[in-house]
Amino acid sequence: MITEPFLLIISAIFGTMIGSFLNVVILRLPDHNQSIVYPASHCPQCSSPLHWYENIPIISYLMLRGKCSHCKMPISLQYPIVELTMALLAAALMYKFQLSIAAAGYFLFSAALLVVIVIDIHHQIIPDVISLPGIILGVLFSLVSDTVTWQSSLIGLLAGGGVLYAVAYFYFLLRKADGMGGGDIKLLAMIGAWLGWQSLPFVIFASSFSGSIVGLIAMFYQKKGGRTRIPFGPFLSLSALIYTFYSEKILYLFNLYLSGQWP
Ligand SMILES: [Zn+2]
Repeated sequence: MITEPFLLIISAIFGTMIGSFLNVVILRLPDHNQSIVYPASHCPQCSSPLHWYENIPIISYLMLRGKCSHCKMPISLQYPIVELTMALLAAALMYKFQLSIAAAGYFLFSAALLVVIVIDIHHQIIPDVISLPGIILGVLFSLVSDTVTWQSSLIGLLAGGGVLYAVAYFYFLLRKADGMGGGDIKLLAMIGAWLGWQSLPFVIFASSFSGSIVGLIAMFYQKKGGRTRIPFGPFLSLSALIYTFYSEKILYLFNLYLSGQWP
C-alpha cells in the first residue's frame, strides 16, 4: 500500500511545525532559567520579537535570506536544518508505517533523538528531562504498538542501560576517569525501551564503529591525543534512527550472519 501523496505532504508540513518548536526546546532546555513557552520567539541577537510571518518554518529563513530583519545578524542554519529534518522524518515515517500508532510513536521518539543530537553536540550533555520520560514513554508505546512487545521493551531498557553501565564501570576501573557520561547510559536505555532488545547489537555496533572513526578524525585535528572528547549521544541516536527505518533488513542480515550464511 502506497501512502497518498496528500498525507505525506500534510505530514511534512506538520513535521516543520514540530521542528520549529524543537528549535526553541534546543535553545532553551540546556538553560535552566529559561521557560520553553515564554517569552515568545525572538531574535537571539537583538531580542526583537518575530512577526508571525518571520516565524514560518523554512520559508521565513529563505525570505529573510538567513538574516534578522531588525539587526541583520545571521540566523543560524541550524533552525531550517532542524525543521527540514523533522519534515523528512515525518513524511518517511508516514510512508513506512502509514497512519498508525507506530508512526505517531516513532515521530515522538525521533523528535527526542534529534533534540538529543543537537544539544549533545553543543553542550556535551543529554538532558534527563528527555531521556527519563523517554524511557517510560517507550515502555508505554510497546503496550499499544504492534512493532515491539512489552517484554522486548523491558529487556531492551534493562540491557541497554546495563551494557553501557558495565562498559563505563570497567573503563573507570582501568583509566580512573569517566569515559562515558551517565547521559549515554540513560539514552541507550531509552532506545532499548522504544526499539526492543533486538535493536541493541546493531545500535551498539554502529554507534561505536562510526563514533570511533569520527573520534580518530577529531583526535587528528584537535591534537589532544587520548584526551579528545566527542559526544557519543549523536552516534547512538543516529544508529537508533537507522534501525527504526531498516530493522527488518538489519535483523535479516544479522540472522544470516549468525547462521554462517553471510557474508
Ligand atoms: Zn536581530
